[in-house]
Amino acid sequence: LRMVSASPIGSEQVSDEELRPSGLDEFIGQPRLKAQMKLFLDAAQKRGVPPDHILLAGPPGLGKTTLAMIVANELESPIRITSGPAIQHAGDLASILSSLEEGEVLFIDEIHRLPRAAEELLYIAMEDFRVDVVVGKGPGASSIPLTLPRFTVVGATTREGMLPSPLRARFGFTAHLDFYPRDEMRKLILRSSVVLNVHIDEDAADQLARRSRGTPRIANRLLRRVRDWAVVHDLDHVDVEAVEQALDLYQIDVEGLDRLDIAVLRAICGSFNGGPVGLNNLAAMVGEESETVETVCEPYLVREGFLVRTPKGRVATSRAWEHLGMNPPDDVNMLF
Ligand code: ATP
Repeated sequence: LRMVSASPIGSEQVSDEELRPSGLDEFIGQPRLKAQMKLFLDAAQKRGVPPDHILLAGPPGLGKTTLAMIVANELESPIRITSGPAIQHAGDLASILSSLEEGEVLFIDEIHRLPRAAEELLYIAMEDFRVDVVVGKGPGASSIPLTLPRFTVVGATTREGMLPSPLRARFGFTAHLDFYPRDEMRKLILRSSVVLNVHIDEDAADQLARRSRGTPRIANRLLRRVRDWAVVHDLDHVDVEAVEQALDLYQIDVEGLDRLDIAVLRAICGSFNGGPVGLNNLAAMVGEESETVETVCEPYLVREGFLVRTPKGRVATSRAWEHLGMNPPDDVNMLF
C-alpha cells in the first residue's frame, strides 16, 4: 500500500511559456488563419527557401508572439526576438540584422513603434537582403553595403494602420487575428487547465470562456486566479461558483468587461450623454493613454456591440446603456 500525499490542485509551478502551444496543430481556433499559414509554410519548405515575411495584426493577447514562435518551430529555424520600442537607433537594428543566420526568423513585436530610420533600414533589408553599415561620423562617414543571408521577418502589430505603406508592402502574408469565439475559448481553457493541472467542470470552463473577453492571454490569467480561489477554499476542482466568485472579486463582469471597459462606457454615457466623443477626451476622462483605449478597450467593445465609431467620435449603443443599467436621456438620438 502506498500513501499518496494530497497536494492542492495546481500545486506545480507552470510558467507562461509552458502554456504556449509549440506547433500549428496545437494552436487552438483561428482555422482560416491556420490553414493559410500552413500552406504558406509548407510551400516554402517544399521549395527549400525561407518563407516571405509575415505580418501578424490584431489586438493584444490573441497569440501573435505564440504564432511567431510556431513559425520558427515549424521551420525548425532559430528565432531572434526584439521589439519596436527596444530599437532606439537604426544602428541597433543594423547590428541585429548583420548577425542573422541563413533562414533565421526575426520577430519584431510592436513593429509600428520602430523609429523612422530603423524602418527604412528594415524595408531595404527585407527587400534586398542588404544593410548599409555606416562607418565613422560626420563628413568623413562612409557606408559599406553588407549582404545578408535570407531570413524571415515576423512582425506583430496592434495598429496595422500605423505602418508606413512601403514597410507594409514588404510582407508577403498578413494574418489578422480576431477575438476567439466562446467555444474556442472553452477549448483553450480546458487545454490550459490540463497543463496547469487544474480540474475544472465543463460548465465552469464555459463560464470562464464567456468572461475572458475572447482573449487567450486573459483566459490563462483568469484561470490562475480561479485556481487560487479553489486552493484557498480547499476545493479539489473548479466549479461555476468558484469562477463567478473569483471573477466578481477581480471585477470582471458577466460579459467579460473589465474595469477599464466599464469606465469607458460610463464616461461616454454618464459624462458625454452617449457621445459622440473624441478618443482623446475619452482617454483623459478615464485616465488612460489614448493608445490603450484605442487598441485594448475599443476593439472588443466594438466587436460586442457596446460601442460604435463614427466620423464624429465614439457613440454608446443601446446595449451599452442597458448593460450599465442606465436610461438614455430623451434627447439622445438612438441610432444603434
Ligand atoms: P501581444 O500582442 O501583446 O504580443 P500576443 O497576441 O502575442 O500578445 P501571446 O503572448 O502569443 O499573445 O499569447 C498569450 C498567451 O495565450 C500565451 O501564453 C499562449 O499560451 C496563449 N495562447 C494564445 N493563443 C493561443 C491559441 N490559439 N491556442 C492556445 N493558446 C494560446
